[in-house]
Amino acid sequence: MAKPGYYGPYGGAFLPEILVATFDDFREAFASAKADPSFWQDYLDLMSTYSCRPTPLTHAENLTKHFGGAQIYIKREDLNHTGAHKANNVMGQGLLVKRMGKTRVIAETGAGQHGVATATMAAKFGFECTIYMGEVDVLRQRPNVFWMERLGATVIPVTEGTRILKDAINEAFRDWVRNMDSTHYVMGTACGPHPFPEMVTWFQSIIGLETRKQCLERVGKLPDRVFACVGGGSNAMGIFSGFLDDGDVELVGVEAGGHGVDSGEHAARLASPDASVGVAQGYKTYFLQDQDGQMRETHSVAAGLDYVGVSPILSHLRETGRVRFSAATDKEVVEALELTIKKEGLIPALESAHGFVQAFKEAPDMSPDQVIVINQSGRGDKDIFTVADAFGDPKWEKFIKDKAEEYHA
Ligand SMILES: *Cc1c(COP(=O)(O)O)cnc(C)c1O
Repeated sequence: MAKPGYYGPYGGAFLPEILVATFDDFREAFASAKADPSFWQDYLDLMSTYSCRPTPLTHAENLTKHFGGAQIYIKREDLNHTGAHKANNVMGQGLLVKRMGKTRVIAETGAGQHGVATATMAAKFGFECTIYMGEVDVLRQRPNVFWMERLGATVIPVTEGTRILKDAINEAFRDWVRNMDSTHYVMGTACGPHPFPEMVTWFQSIIGLETRKQCLERVGKLPDRVFACVGGGSNAMGIFSGFLDDGDVELVGVEAGGHGVDSGEHAARLASPDASVGVAQGYKTYFLQDQDGQMRETHSVAAGLDYVGVSPILSHLRETGRVRFSAATDKEVVEALELTIKKEGLIPALESAHGFVQAFKEAPDMSPDQVIVINQSGRGDKDIFTVADAFGDPKWEKFIKDKAEEYHA
């Protein structure tokens, strides 16, 4: 790689002058941790005693039979503490914060999942914790706000701008500038300025390492195709990391197609022609933006995929042809979710179900000696009202309406 932190033309660290020294320290701390085998061992110990690592690889025998093609396996990141792969990233960063001798963490959150994961990590490590959240999201996600506060975090509703995720990101950066010496910003995905994409991918690579080993042990060979949903790109980069050098393993990223990529209401950065290259939030990648560089509104039934940017590493891997991308619509996602629940008794998160959609489209055309792995990045309990609403079952209509009002009032 020519310049550190660049993936082809993507990535980099476009920082305000005042944060440059903080990032120098951060880069050095990460490089030294990465080079120190005892750090990775501490990480494995923590994840195997506090979360559920290694997470199982489940053979989805009923779905396999249903589609009559490839063997379908599911990597169970939903079994992590707090219900998703996000735990891998926040706990890893927690260990790094401790190593750097800092005492306070901040994060931004949209749907609240990353906020809850960060507040959990802060409680475990004894760090002070402040979470920035758009005022609109605070109202929409009251259960998550409740848990963040119980976990000891201060949740600050952001009233600037459109009062959603991107405004919370700006506010968190302002906090960091004011408190650089004590504070670490816990980035939630494989985006942002270098070294965040590399670091988050490194912590998430545990998913791919385990999957590779489990597949070899259980099936006796590597998978033929690996599917993962793509929001910012961290769970996808995590599982893909195990196979990047195995040219025969096809890697497939699935973005939020929302109401369809032709509708304009989606979050497909790499699977639609709607995104263009730009620099924002400290890094260069594909963004859903208008001609003036204003960020567009995105839509997805899955809050965790509803994001304007995408990992610069994935932008590059698309260009080199190593990873192929597609989009799944909200409607397809709900159907894949319903089928998976009925056939396997698993409840994937709406985010994860995007990966299932594309795998289900391809499985029937593959042969029974071929193997598919789908990354189930998280569990779907959190999606109860969205899913109930999407199924439109009249029996549940009143319950949903009442509860939704109570929760999201
Ligand atoms: C946050 C989230 C995502 C999206 O984030 P990535 O960084 O793209 O992995 C996907 N699935 C679940 C369950 C999530 O909570």
